[in-house]
Amino acid sequence: MKRIVILGSTGSIGCNTLAVIRRFPDRFKVVGLSGHSRVGLLRKQTAEFKPEVVTLTGAVVSDRAALAKKGFGERTKLLFGTNGLRRMLFCPEVDLVVLAIPGTDSLMPAFWAVESGANLALASKEALVMAGSLLTDKAKKSGVQIIPLDSEHNAIFQIVSAFPKRSIKKIYLTASGGPFWQKKKGKMSLEDVLAHPVWKMGRKITVDSATMVNKALEIIEAHYLFGLPPKKIGVLIHPQVAVHGMVEFDDGFTIANLSAPDMRLSIASGLFWPEKPPANSVSTSLCLEDLGKLTFHRPTHRQFPALTLAYRILEKGGSYPVRFSVANEEAVNAFLNGLIEFEEILPLVKKVMAKETPSSRLTLAEVLKISEETRQLTRFLLGIPVNASGSFSQ
Ligand code: MG
Repeated sequence: MKRIVILGSTGSIGCNTLAVIRRFPDRFKVVGLSGHSRVGLLRKQTAEFKPEVVTLTGAVVSDRAALAKKGFGERTKLLFGTNGLRRMLFCPEVDLVVLAIPGTDSLMPAFWAVESGANLALASKEALVMAGSLLTDKAKKSGVQIIPLDSEHNAIFQIVSAFPKRSIKKIYLTASGGPFWQKKKGKMSLEDVLAHPVWKMGRKITVDSATMVNKALEIIEAHYLFGLPPKKIGVLIHPQVAVHGMVEFDDGFTIANLSAPDMRLSIASGLFWPEKPPANSVSTSLCLEDLGKLTFHRPTHRQFPALTLAYRILEKGGSYPVRFSVANEEAVNAFLNGLIEFEEILPLVKKVMAKETPSSRLTLAEVLKISEETRQLTRFLLGIPVNASGSFSQ
């Protein structure tokens, strides 16, 4: 029985993870759940899966006493805030942590998960983007496996694991192109941006898909996950979203991983790793006859400038990935709150990135410091009071 903690269980990935686990009560035991603001859903999940510990990260201090009094059931311990999150990872014996907290708030929980000695099924790409080498080094030292749940990286992880002796010439991440692929550029409303053609996801990642910052983050994520230089990481626009990742080996063969665009497939492969999920554990299949054709397009800089930015960021290293991730998160929040237009997101990120900072290998303390400085600078440029706290720590 695998003991699992899900951080961010009320989001899209969290709910899909529970949907897979629900079908295998004899294989998985949910020992911990965390949610930010969807208290009602978290309560429902707790009633169904009966975890030992639940952490609420979004509850303000003044509400905590009432929440604690009402509780989450007799058998479930209720914790609060980032401290609660940390305690939850070290309390019960945990075999696998599913990390699905969106955005830069996933950074510290990723480190705690690895420190706890549990394997890490990672859906939050920002943690790897901000502190990639630190996190992968720590995982290696602790004998912990990081299993990517991001569909492209999961597809490539499966190929690479199946052919461990072949050497990689290049990997390809595919991108649907987002809601604006082959559409005339005009002014984009929030509604246009949130209407992703294929994937139903959280709001931040849906906006990131429209700007292609999501793919830019994925290039950086792949660099750290697979230990590949930027020139060995390619991106192809593939509107049919059947191929999720491809690996070209140096013997001339390219192996592609195809599936229906259903996150539960990647999640199931992560939950069962190193075993394979049982047959039909996710009853969804790919019908190539229905698709008829698969097409691949080279993304142009003109159409997707965020991708060029990703390669530049990897070249420069140091604080650049941290600043990219944080500035983008703040800009996306500003867009979702109606403070800026969609077209202003990327220019704002670039403006924050333009501030030169020394590039060296950072410590985790430096990553946190630069992250906070970047948050303040972005908010200053947005005209938001600089002392406003964006993190969920209370
Ligand atoms: Mg992805």
